[in-house]
Amino acid sequence: MHYLSTRGRAPALDFEQATMAGLAADGGLYVPEAWPAFSADEIRGLRGLDYAQLAQRLLARFVGDSIDADTLARLTVESYRGFSPPGHSTAAAHSTVDPAPLTALDDSLYVLELFHGPTLAFKDFALQFLGRLFGHFLGRRGQTCTILGATSGDTGSAAIEALRGIEAVTLYMLHPRGRVSEVQRRQMTTVLDANIHNLAVDGDFDDCQRLVKALFSDDEFRARHALAAVNSINWARIAAQVIYYFYAALQLGAPARAVNFAVPTGNFGNVFAGYVARRMGLPVERLIIGCNRNDILARFFDSGIMRRRKLHATISPSMDIQVSSNFERYLFDVLGRDAEQVRDLMTVFAARGEFTVAPEVHRRAAELIRAHRLTDAQTRAQIADTHRRNGILLDPHSAIGVAAARACADDGVPTVALATAHPAKFDAAVAAACGVGPEWPPRLRDILQREERVTTVANDAAEVKALMERGESGGRLRGDGRGRGGPGGRSA
Ligand SMILES: *Cc1c(COP(=O)(O)O)cnc(C)c1O
Repeated sequence: MHYLSTRGRAPALDFEQATMAGLAADGGLYVPEAWPAFSADEIRGLRGLDYAQLAQRLLARFVGDSIDADTLARLTVESYRGFSPPGHSTAAAHSTVDPAPLTALDDSLYVLELFHGPTLAFKDFALQFLGRLFGHFLGRRGQTCTILGATSGDTGSAAIEALRGIEAVTLYMLHPRGRVSEVQRRQMTTVLDANIHNLAVDGDFDDCQRLVKALFSDDEFRARHALAAVNSINWARIAAQVIYYFYAALQLGAPARAVNFAVPTGNFGNVFAGYVARRMGLPVERLIIGCNRNDILARFFDSGIMRRRKLHATISPSMDIQVSSNFERYLFDVLGRDAEQVRDLMTVFAARGEFTVAPEVHRRAAELIRAHRLTDAQTRAQIADTHRRNGILLDPHSAIGVAAARACADDGVPTVALATAHPAKFDAAVAAACGVGPEWPPRLRDILQREERVTTVANDAAEVKALMERGESGGRLRGDGRGRGGPGGRSA
């Protein structure tokens, strides 16, 4: 299996190379040269597999010759072993835990709980696997690398948890200072392993993403530090997220019965994995995306115009994004895989902060996808309503998915809303919405007492570079927020 850049000017790579490269050298994103297809019979043959077995069967098609079958089996088993069964402390080492329980809210609406991993958000599904891939590939090559990432909250902790203690990897994780929740921040900054460096950037998430892109496009710096990425621009993350779409749909009767998925969306990575599942043959009738006030995608699906606007802070901060990187992969397909056109649109977007697609392209893009936007007040109302009706506490992101499902689903087709974070991760917002605070799972209990380590940095690529150079030569980085972030502290 080979991977192509959406912008057509980077070499085609195999799975290992695409995983290690992250972003393509021409600024594009890697996609498989062709979508691996599963027939209805093959999909039927996937029924009854446990999560790791299913992962192995699906991922084998993306991995190609890069990993042998036994190693892939081991990596998938290890990746999903650390997930907790709902209501329990940690997974019993040998019991088969369902890492993605499906719960019915009513006859046709289901919630897929993707928040039972080590950091209580769906990103663990991709990053637990990606961290092991890095460890495996680097070990085999006898190499080391520096991973550079940006996070609006959940990616950072999931990456840190997946990579802590892996000696071949040094991780620099940028987060927007003061714009992630305290629990999110502490899940990152209380990991004190020597290979983990947290940088708090004076800026918003898009600034962080821009800094990462700037450093990646500096060829000399990138080569010297062997830079690699764990943001959702990394193809392996998308591949790993495809699995739970199959897992849920199989339980609801696929391939015989079609399903809709409703996905709270920021960078378009999660919902894009649903699109990939559909291209692989899974009967996905419709993909419904939920947005918060940062509704660039909803506006695009309404109008065919992608236009950047000012970023607003909301109670669903992991979706506070104004440029959805993974949308480029979708656009590539919608444009008939015409990399020239993708490159032209992205050039226009970088220069003017907007682009417009032809009416025919807009129609094609919107055929499969419905978008729904919620204000914070509507999100709170959804949390309260689901608690009242179903006795279930949703975090704000998950509530946006459920509300979008309720607003956009057609009668007769079961809809699965993806619950992307544990309510305890956003407990203040949940308590404000319905008067009931979620119980903190054991993984979080002592987090307010643990020591923090973080370095504040200006929104400036040269400064981030200088800091990384010092970190590289001077060994362990010293933070300026050491031990100072008591409960309620927002300024680490
Ligand atoms: C990252 C994240 C999202 C958005 O997912 P994308 O793949 O960026 O669209 C939604 N909810 C939560 C809790 C997240 O952490």
